[in-house]
Amino acid sequence: MGGLQVPQRGAGVQVPQTNTGIQVPTMGGLQVPAAGSGFKVPSSGRGKNAGGLQIPQAQFPALNSPQRASSQLLKPRQKVALKPGRSLMDWVRLGNAKGKVLNGIGGRSCEVSVEELAKHNKLDDAWMSIRGKVYNITPYMEYHPGGEEELMKGVGIDGTQLFNEVHQWVNVEGMLEKCYIGRLKKTIDLSGGMKKLSVPATGPLNLAPPEPKAVVKPKARYDWYQTETEVTITIYAKCNTITKDRVVLDKHEKDLRATIYIDEYVYTIHLDLCEDISDNYQVRVRQGPINRIMIILQKTEPKKWASLGQPADGNNSTVLTKEREPIFRSCQLICCSPVSHDTNLYTFQQPNGTCMNIPIGYHVNLMMKCNGVDTNRPYTAVVPSLQHADVPNPAPGLEGRLLHLMVKLYPDGLLTQQMATLKQGDSVAISDFEGNFDESRLTKCSHLIMLAAGTGFTPMIRLLRWCLHEHQESTCKLKLLFFNKTEKDILWHDQLQTLSTENSERFEVVHILSAADTSWHGATGRVRSELVEKYIPAPKDLADKSPLVCICGSTPFTNEAYRLIQAHGFTSSVIHLFTA
Ligand code: NAP
Repeated sequence: MGGLQVPQRGAGVQVPQTNTGIQVPTMGGLQVPAAGSGFKVPSSGRGKNAGGLQIPQAQFPALNSPQRASSQLLKPRQKVALKPGRSLMDWVRLGNAKGKVLNGIGGRSCEVSVEELAKHNKLDDAWMSIRGKVYNITPYMEYHPGGEEELMKGVGIDGTQLFNEVHQWVNVEGMLEKCYIGRLKKTIDLSGGMKKLSVPATGPLNLAPPEPKAVVKPKARYDWYQTETEVTITIYAKCNTITKDRVVLDKHEKDLRATIYIDEYVYTIHLDLCEDISDNYQVRVRQGPINRIMIILQKTEPKKWASLGQPADGNNSTVLTKEREPIFRSCQLICCSPVSHDTNLYTFQQPNGTCMNIPIGYHVNLMMKCNGVDTNRPYTAVVPSLQHADVPNPAPGLEGRLLHLMVKLYPDGLLTQQMATLKQGDSVAISDFEGNFDESRLTKCSHLIMLAAGTGFTPMIRLLRWCLHEHQESTCKLKLLFFNKTEKDILWHDQLQTLSTENSERFEVVHILSAADTSWHGATGRVRSELVEKYIPAPKDLADKSPLVCICGSTPFTNEAYRLIQAHGFTSSVIHLFTA
C-alpha cells in the first residue's frame, strides 16, 4: 500500500521521499509552515548544525537517562567486552552477506510450539521467541553487547518481556532477520485468552503496569450496504470501550485496510474494493450491547457496486495487538518549531489515504536508520499548543492526518541526531499507536494529579487539554508537579502559566528545579516525600472523590514517584504510569 510499510526483512523500511498533499517550501534546514497552517515559524537559528535543525551543545540527558543510545527503559543494561570482529556492524555485515542463512534449519521457516521452543535452551542451541516470532539466536550470542549470560535468560521461552525491558526500541525483525525460524504457536486457554508463557524473574523493580486481566478475544464481524454515492461498512463488536480513534484506515487505490483496536486485540478488514473511493472517510460509533462501528466511504463514481470487493491478506482476522507485525507509514515533516532550547515540536502529515487519530496518552514509534540499523524511539502524540485558540481545525481532508510530536534533541542521541537533520518535506517512518491509558478514567476523575519530569510532560499535555478545553462538562481539578533541571528546560513554561491563570480555580502548576540558579525562588530538588506531602492532598482528604495520579519521566524518576505516591496513601488502582 502506498506509504504503508510492514518492515521488510533486511531491507529496513523503504521511505518514499514524496507525499502528495501539502506542498511545502524548504528553506535551508529551517522548516517553514504552510501558509495558513497556524503553526509558528522558528524564530531563530541555533547551534552549529548547518543544513539541519540546530543541536544544542549542553550535556544532556543525565548519563543514566534512558534516552541515551546505550541505556534502556526499565532496567540497567550491562555491557561486556566483545571479541574482535563481533561488533554490531560485524553482525549487520554477516546478516547482509549474500546467501547467508543463520536460522539453523536451512533458511526455511516453520511454526514452533512452546514445547519445541523449550528444547532449544542451550548456549550452542538457543532459540528465543520475541513478539510472537521464534529466532535461532545461537549465532548472535557472541555479538550481544550485554553478553551471552543475559541472552541465555530468554532462551527456550518467550523472551518478549525481557527484550522489551532492555531493547524496546530495537527493530528485532531487522536485527535477527536471518535467524528467523517461524511463528510461535500459542496455546489457547478455555476462556479464549492466550496462555501466559513463563518468563524468569528479571531484576529488581519492574515498572510494567499491573498484569492486564485476561481479555477474551472479541468476536467481531462486518457487513456492508450502499447507496448511490456511499458505501457503509458496519463492524459489530462486543466491547464497551471502543471510540472513533480506535479505527485506523489506510487506502491505496482500491486496497482498503481498516484496523480496529478492540481491547488488547486488533480486528482487521482488508479488501480489494470493487470500485474506487475517495480519501474522505467518516467513522461513527454507536454504543450498545454490541457496538457498531460504521465506516462511511464515498464512491468516486455514483453507481451501484456489484459487490464490496475481494478479501485481501488478513481480512476479517483478530489478533493480539502485541503479536501483530507493526505497520510503519511514511509521514512527511510539514513543520518544526522550537519549544525550548533543546526540544522541538514536529508536525508530520500521514500519507494520502491514511486516517489515524492517536488516542490520549498513546505513543507512536518513529523509525530511522542510524549507523545502518533501523532504530525506533517512542514518542507520545501531543497537540501543538495548550491554549485553546491556538489549535486550528485542520484544513478539510487533513483531519486525522496530522501528527504532533515533541522531541528533545540529545547531542549523543542516536535517533534524535538524525531528527536534527530533518528538513521540511522529508519523510520518516512512523508506526501505529501503542499505549494503555484508558481515556474513560478522565470522565470519572474529580482530581487529576500529574507528576512529570522533563519530556515526561508530553502525555500530560492532552490530559490538560481534555479536562480544561475539550470537555466542557469536566469539573476535574488538576495539579501538575513539573520537575526540570533549570528554568530554561521547562517546556511551554509561558503556556502553563497562562493556563493556570485562566483556570485558577481548577489548575495549579508547581515547578521544581533540580539545578536551579540563584534567581529561582520556587521549589528545588528531586522528587521526594517532603514535596509530595506539601503539594499533593492526602487521599483521606479526597475520600469521597475520585483521584487519578499520572506519572511520567525517566524510569528511575517514575519508580521513585510511584513509590512516594503509594507511601502517601494512594493505591495502585488510582495511579497510571506512562512507561513507553
Ligand atoms: P531530564 O531533563 O534529564 O530530567 C528532568 C528532571 O527529572 C530533572 O529534574 C532530573 O533531576 C529529574 N530526575 C532524573 N532522574 C531522576 C531520578 N532518578 N530521581 C528523581 N528525579 C530524577 O529529563 P528528560 O531528558 O526530559 O527525560 C525525560 C524522560 O521521560 C526520558 O527518559 C523519556 O524517555 C521519558 N518519557 C517517557 C514517556 C512515556 O513513557 N510515555 C514520554 C515522554 C518522556 P536531575 O537534574 O537531578 O537529574
